[in-house]
Amino acid sequence: MKENATSPRPATGNVIAFPPERGRHIQRVLVAGGAGFLGSHLCDTLLKAQYHVTCIDNLATGRLENIKPLLDNPQFTFRHHDIRTSLALKVDAIFNFACPASPPAYQADPVGTMMTNVIGTRNLLELARRRKAVFVQASTSEVYGDPLVSPQKEDYLGNVSTTGPRACYDEGKRSAETLIFDYARQYGVGVKVGRIFNTYGPRMRPDDGRVVSNFIVQALRNAPITIYGSGSQTRSFCYVDDLIGGFMRLFSADDAVTGPINLGNPAEFTVLELADMIVSMTGSKSHIVHLPAAIDDPQQRRPDITRAGEQLGWRPHVDVRDGLLATIAYFDAALRHQAVGD
Ligand code: UDP
Repeated sequence: MKENATSPRPATGNVIAFPPERGRHIQRVLVAGGAGFLGSHLCDTLLKAQYHVTCIDNLATGRLENIKPLLDNPQFTFRHHDIRTSLALKVDAIFNFACPASPPAYQADPVGTMMTNVIGTRNLLELARRRKAVFVQASTSEVYGDPLVSPQKEDYLGNVSTTGPRACYDEGKRSAETLIFDYARQYGVGVKVGRIFNTYGPRMRPDDGRVVSNFIVQALRNAPITIYGSGSQTRSFCYVDDLIGGFMRLFSADDAVTGPINLGNPAEFTVLELADMIVSMTGSKSHIVHLPAAIDDPQQRRPDITRAGEQLGWRPHVDVRDGLLATIAYFDAALRHQAVGD
């Protein structure tokens, strides 16, 4: 599957200083989950910034095709590896993007999801401790659960079920944050935690199961648009390039900037509004069907990004319509490619 060379790629306007100006010299970067949707975009950006990148992935939801163009780059190495097994490697920085992030994917193997977040994060933190490497975590707005306040600030402690079907991910990511800050306090590991709010863009899997990819694929196929519940629940959608720009700024920031820091686009939409937007942008004949609501589905989600502005000078720049146009173009090309069977 190729990205459509003609797809509009909205400019993010996020100017990033490369390489990070900080006391220690960082050259070798490990990206765990580097063949995934976000991880592969991160690998691209790190390579452009002249880092040597080792990508590890168990390919559970990640795909080799996401990193195929990088395999010839002498500064890039791929290792098939699951972070639940420890690893030895010379690295100066570690990005932990290794975990299925779509509800159907992380709920398909809930014990595996929890262990990826606990044992996997512990293994990477041990590596960071041994190598004195900086540790950057892809955390999530799911740590706020089904929030009772909006927008969500980083000091909101959340409203999270410990026993429901989302808990393996939500509590897994919360445990990972706990481990990260304990490694910082107990062993002096340099850590940085970004909390990702719903992010979309090219390289999502057509069968990913999340709302943006589902609706676009359904619209392009003129198939029913599946709304879980009433569709009045809200999300705030961030384009992938903006999100990666935020992580690069977090990585480049002073050691004192540890986070957690919300990274997301505060423009909030109901799921119904998103469906209408995608149907009209694709000119689809799809109609909407309502399916049962997902259990423990957060009803409202919107990041407060004041901290990201103050500490990183970051904000998202891509309007949701521009981001959706680029994503629709990507899926259109991907589905055509699939249809011709190669
Ligand atoms: N959703 C939906 N139809 C779909 C997929 C998702 O209505 O085909 C809803 C889902 O119930 C949730 C929202 O869209 O309210 C965002 O779901 P997603 O899986 O993208 O992310 P998350 O729930 O993790 O924010």
